[in-house]
Amino acid sequence: MEKTYDNLTGLPSMSYFYELAEAEINHLLAKGDTPAIVFFDITGMKQYNHKHGFRLGDELLIALASILIEQFGNENCSRFIQDHFVVVTNSKDVEDKVERLFSAWKKRAKMGVLPLRVGVYVVDSANTDVVVACDNAKVACDLLRNTYTSDIRYYNKELEQDLEKKEYIISHLDQAIANKWINVYYQPIVRAINGRVCEEEALSRWIDPERGFFSPADFIDILEEAHLIYKLDLYVVDQVIEKIKTIKSLGLDPVTHSVNLSRTDFNDCDIVGEICARMDAAELDHSLLTIEITESIIASDFEYMKLQVNRFRELGFKVWMDDFGSGYSSLDVLHDLEFDLIKFDMSFLHKFGDGINGKIILSNLVRMATDLGIDTVCEGVETEEHEAFLQDIGCIKLQGYYYTKPLPLENVVDRYIHCEHNGVHIDFESTAEMPYFENLSKINLYDLSWALETEDREFDRFYNSIPMVVMELTDDSVRIARCNASYLEFSRRTFPRNVGKEFERFDTIPEQHRGSFLAYLIECANTGKRLFVDEAFPNGTTVHTFMRRIAINPVTGIRAVAIAVLSVTSDGNEMV
Ligand code: C2E
Ligand code: MG
Ligand code: MG
Repeated sequence: MEKTYDNLTGLPSMSYFYELAEAEINHLLAKGDTPAIVFFDITGMKQYNHKHGFRLGDELLIALASILIEQFGNENCSRFIQDHFVVVTNSKDVEDKVERLFSAWKKRAKMGVLPLRVGVYVVDSANTDVVVACDNAKVACDLLRNTYTSDIRYYNKELEQDLEKKEYIISHLDQAIANKWINVYYQPIVRAINGRVCEEEALSRWIDPERGFFSPADFIDILEEAHLIYKLDLYVVDQVIEKIKTIKSLGLDPVTHSVNLSRTDFNDCDIVGEICARMDAAELDHSLLTIEITESIIASDFEYMKLQVNRFRELGFKVWMDDFGSGYSSLDVLHDLEFDLIKFDMSFLHKFGDGINGKIILSNLVRMATDLGIDTVCEGVETEEHEAFLQDIGCIKLQGYYYTKPLPLENVVDRYIHCEHNGVHIDFESTAEMPYFENLSKINLYDLSWALETEDREFDRFYNSIPMVVMELTDDSVRIARCNASYLEFSRRTFPRNVGKEFERFDTIPEQHRGSFLAYLIECANTGKRLFVDEAFPNGTTVHTFMRRIAINPVTGIRAVAIAVLSVTSDGNEMV
């Protein structure tokens, strides 16, 4: 046995440790005890060296070695490489020892405390290879990669299965792409104002001939970690391009499609250039593809990501911020970087039962985005109640199981074909009509806000705007396309009878309820004149409104008029 030691810490070298550990394992097993291999790694060592220099970095390593020696004894410890330390010990008191080590470590760290990650492999048979035992302890330790406090993790059977799956996914990715085991599913995004599909999001599924169905949760992280996700993401882009071409070849009008990108896509290839080249080769307009990037990707390296987001946008791709509100959101990002849309994380809706705060936060975020000129989608819409709330607060687009789960291509194409009727999309928004609906959606029904006096304080806390409504008119009928909650409350109190969300013919509205208001509304819709209207009611109240035509649908000829109720007076006294 050649006794070799690490120059820096004086601990046994890796090869010498293997021999020492084997002897200690056999010794403990012979006594009837269960040995354990413990792997230690310091989180943030690289940055520490960078910030404080290698001399202080070395001091930190020496400090860790000395407390390891205190707890486990010199000949039971080793420094393998860099900041990786390994120990052999009795599994019985391993946790107590590690706890003591954590507190000693906290006291020693001069330049701030770096967390320690600890992985444990319990050796249960004499046949265990010591090198494998050390590797397994490291595997358990690596699971703590994304934790930022000192922590301990054990190696177990599940971990082994996870590892096996990980290896399978990495080694079969190319085959899965070539054989189309990876399927792209599409989930529609619905415009709140008309209930029609205005976008579709591409989401991948891996349907394996041997192992069955893998959802993104099974493979996305693994492929990201292995720096292979760019292959999957470019494949998804290729599939989306094929789909758009198919829809076009059927004489139909494709909606915009969005794809999700990962952080590593931006390092492992020139993802902007690659996607652009693919769209150009297919002769597709860049506006047909939207890029979804999560907030955490942006935060990981702000300046670099800002550059990439701007490149996409300058090339005519829309860029959306996905999962907003899922992590530690910083509104600063919105200040310094332009997005076309913010997608609110489904956790907002799924916390709905927990009280009023979620609603207040979401309604104000939607308002803020609208004021910034950024569109909004909320994901995870599962109930009618979710939908109604989001429509009220002016969220522009909606996505969730309430409409449909992500669907495989065949089902989506089927829907396209069967929804086509007389050249008008019933279910899907057509490109020609899109600007009309965008105009309607963008009117902010909340921006002339000042607090309304209502008895219902809870209501008031997130609906504190003046009453506003967008009405749609055909030549002979009218309906409410959008209104805010203040308008609903106002109209319930003021009018004996209200127009609803369905088109109503003018001549079915009783004469005494029509008033001069309808005549002005029709005039505004037809001429595009901006009008201030004072309408007096028999009971002495007068309603003062302002109205403006905001858009004309080029396909149906329907006109949209936005109306704000400025005040209500009763015999000269202000009521609202
Ligand atoms: P995401 O982009 O936020 O996608 C939304 C996820 O929520 C999807 O899960 C979707 O199926 C699910 N979802 C949609 N509506 C509802 C709902 O009403 N309720 C609930 N509970 N869930 C809903 P999925 O398909 O499992 O994807 C998970 C995540 O994996 C995605 O989150 C995305 O970040 C990532 N991902 C999926 N496909 C790809 C891909 O091809 N490339 C990359 N880089 N990431 C992908
Ligand atoms: Mg997404
Ligand atoms: Mg999302």
